[in-house]
Formats: sequence, C-alpha cells, structure tokens
Amino acid sequence: MLPEIVIDLDKIEHNTKVVLELARQAGVETVAVTKAFLAEPQIAGAMLRAGIKMLADARLENLEILHRHFPDVPLMLLRLPGLSQVKDTVRLAAVSLNSELKVLRALSEEAKDRGKKHRVILMADLGDLREGIWAENLPEAAAEVMNMDGLILEGLGVNLACYGGIIPNADNVGRLVSMAQELEISSGRKLQVISGGNSASLPLLLSGELPSGINQLRIGEGILLGRETVKRRLLPGAAADAFVLRAEVLESRDKPTVPIGNVGQDAFGETPQFEDEGWRRRAILALGRQDVPPEGISPRDERVKIFGASSDHLIVDITDAPELGVGSVLEFNVRYAGLLGAMTSPYVYKRFVTTKSKNLGVRIQESGDRRQNLGVRMS
Ligand SMILES: *Cc1c(COP(=O)(O)O)cnc(C)c1O
Repeated sequence: MLPEIVIDLDKIEHNTKVVLELARQAGVETVAVTKAFLAEPQIAGAMLRAGIKMLADARLENLEILHRHFPDVPLMLLRLPGLSQVKDTVRLAAVSLNSELKVLRALSEEAKDRGKKHRVILMADLGDLREGIWAENLPEAAAEVMNMDGLILEGLGVNLACYGGIIPNADNVGRLVSMAQELEISSGRKLQVISGGNSASLPLLLSGELPSGINQLRIGEGILLGRETVKRRLLPGAAADAFVLRAEVLESRDKPTVPIGNVGQDAFGETPQFEDEGWRRRAILALGRQDVPPEGISPRDERVKIFGASSDHLIVDITDAPELGVGSVLEFNVRYAGLLGAMTSPYVYKRFVTTKSKNLGVRIQESGDRRQNLGVRMS
C-alpha cells in the first residue's frame, strides 16, 4: 500500500463553518488559505460550500489552479509579489498583500495597461520581523499608494506568529486599527479592510479580545486542523481529524533500542543519540522523510511510539500493541508540518472521503491518478 492521506471533505466543510461563525459573531470576514494543500480544488470546494467568499494562497501557481476551477471566486495573493510576478499577480489576484513601493508602482502600471484596478493591502510589521512596513514609515507609503492610478488601497494588514513567533494581542493588533484610523482621517478615505492576521489571531476571537475594527482574518490551519495556533487548542466543535495519514508495516521484529557498533553519522549528517529501553518490538513502515517529516505526525494509537525515520522508512515501537504486524496499517494525526509534508509529497496518495452519515460509514471517492505528480500508475 502506498502511504496515503485521507481527507474528509465533510469535516473540512464543517470546520470552515465553525471558523466562519466564530468570526461572523465578531463582524470579521474569513478568507480561507489554501497553501498547505497545494490549492487542491476538492478541499477548496469544501471551504466554498461552507460559505467562504475569498480564497488565498502564497503561490501564483496555486492561484492559477483556483482560478481555473472557481473563476468567479476572488483570490488573494498572500506572499509579497516579486517584481518578476507583477503580470500574473494582476491577472490572477483580485487583491495582494504588499510592502514594497517599487513593486506597487509596477502593479499599478500593469493594472492600468490591462484597464483594471488591482486592490492591495499594505502590510505593517508590528514586530514579527517577516514582511511589512515599519509603523512610522507606513503613512507615507500609504499616501503614495493612494495616488497610484492602477491600484485601490483596500486596507492594512499584519502577519504575526510566523517568523518571530510574536503572539497577536489587543496591543499589537490594536495598533494596526489605530494606524488605519489615522490614515482614514488624514486621507479622508475609508479603508475597506483591516486584516488582523492568521490562525494565531483566533484566540483573540475566542476570548472576545480582538480589537474592534479588525474585519478580516486569513485562516488556513484553523480550518484544516481545527486549531488556533498559539497553544494549538481545538476550536469548540471543530474536528481534529479531517486529515489522517496511513502507512503499511513492512517489518516487525524484536530488537534492542541501541544500535550495535560504533555510532557515526546517520543518513542526514547527524550523530544520533539512543536511549536504552532494552529489547522492543520495532515496526518499519513504508513512510519516510520523503513522505512526511516524522516530527509532524503522531500515531493515533497511543500504544505506538515513533523511534525515528530515514528517507523511506519510519521506525516505531509497537511492543504494547502486539496484534500489529507485517501488513498492518498504522494511522497518524498530522500537525501543520506533517500536513504540509504529506500534501506536497508526490509519494503520498491523496484519498478524499465524505462521511455522509454514521450508518453509511465512510464513502471512498477515488480521485484522479494515484501518482499524478510522478506520472506513473501503481495498483
Ligand atoms: C500562511 C498565511 C496565512 C494563514 O496562516 P494559518 O496559520 O494557516 O492560518 C495568513 N496570512 C499570510 C500572509 C500567510 O502567509
């Protein structure tokens, strides 16, 4: 069996509704982020069925896929467009997040050439040190953007908790709202959007502390894995298992926990350390780092523990689960890194299911070519 990730489209639709409703109560629009799953149209479709009105992705290739499948849905480009990507950005994205005036000028020229207006959200850096204009330079940049004929300054945005791990709170997100208000006063123009971050802003929604004025969040993980991303707590009513990874046991043998011989470097240039737990039953699975990073998954069966992984093999401890053996299939929950790895690996088969009712159980929908990315067909 190929390793596979089982994707429950009903659970994704359900989780999308959970997030939409949570946000709606605070007057916030949810933009659904598709970058963790290569903008796979079946998953994006489940988000749209739940009521999502705008999809967002970091990559233009993914926007191209979304545009092809959902031509009427407005799309947002999350990663700053490069100077080399101006044409495709204007063609594919209704709105893009930006921080560079040189790129903004080029976007404006391209939009004018196309007879279009391109909407932009200016990103403020409130301390996370990824993208964004430093607060004191923002008014000047915004004023210049407002004068660019091909652009509409849709609003301001922030992205926290990504590089610097800075937790969104009433203070830093609140500063974004004040900046927007000051800009509205100085320019006499209303900003449509104040985009208050990603799934790390969900705790503020849950506690009622999201500063009023924030009217948009861009949510990926919160929908896909049903969790906020500051403490990774499950959102009330959300499903944690919309994605389940499965892989087959190739070998099951009792062996020691410490290798025999002199320890040098492993396959990745690291010198491994081993804890002596005596002899254990070790299962080798057809699942390796080329499929998923082992740090990003955890066995659904609590009796099973991960020892480690090489490129093509995952080694787990199944001593306490004696019924497992060669040919057994083990299931794993994924965290964000596991989801991203499994969805982007061409070796992991993507199996879509819908849980129509408890009685019917799971209906399997085979979709597309098993090895669509590799161009070979396996049984
Ligand atoms: C990835 C990304 C998001 C979504 O992040 P999640 O943690 O998956 O909700 C939102 N905004 C930007 C700019 C992003 O790059």
